[in-house]
Amino acid sequence: MDAREFFQKVVVRRYASFVRRQRSRPLPRPLLCPICKSAVQELDRTGAATGYACATHGNFKVADSVFARAKAKHYTREEWEAALDKAKQRTEPDSWPLVITDDFF
Ligand SMILES: [Zn+2]
Repeated sequence: MDAREFFQKVVVRRYASFVRRQRSRPLPRPLLCPICKSAVQELDRTGAATGYACATHGNFKVADSVFARAKAKHYTREEWEAALDKAKQRTEPDSWPLVITDDFF
């Protein structure tokens, strides 16, 4: 193939898939405590949960399924704190509470 063909078939195609990969990567974003909305540090992501290190609420994890619920946006701080309390009661020593959807009932 000539240079022009090489450019179109190989370079352009590679660049396009590179751009797609970049887009699909989650952007670094400031993480907010879902309970008090203060900026927090993200702990390790383990499985299908996000870990938060909040100055007010300590270290805890929230299952992604919690945020997948349409209602999640409307949970009040009181509901979140109650859910975190329930999660803490199940938590083994030396591990972080994991808030799951059932904790909101
Ligand atoms: Zn907090």
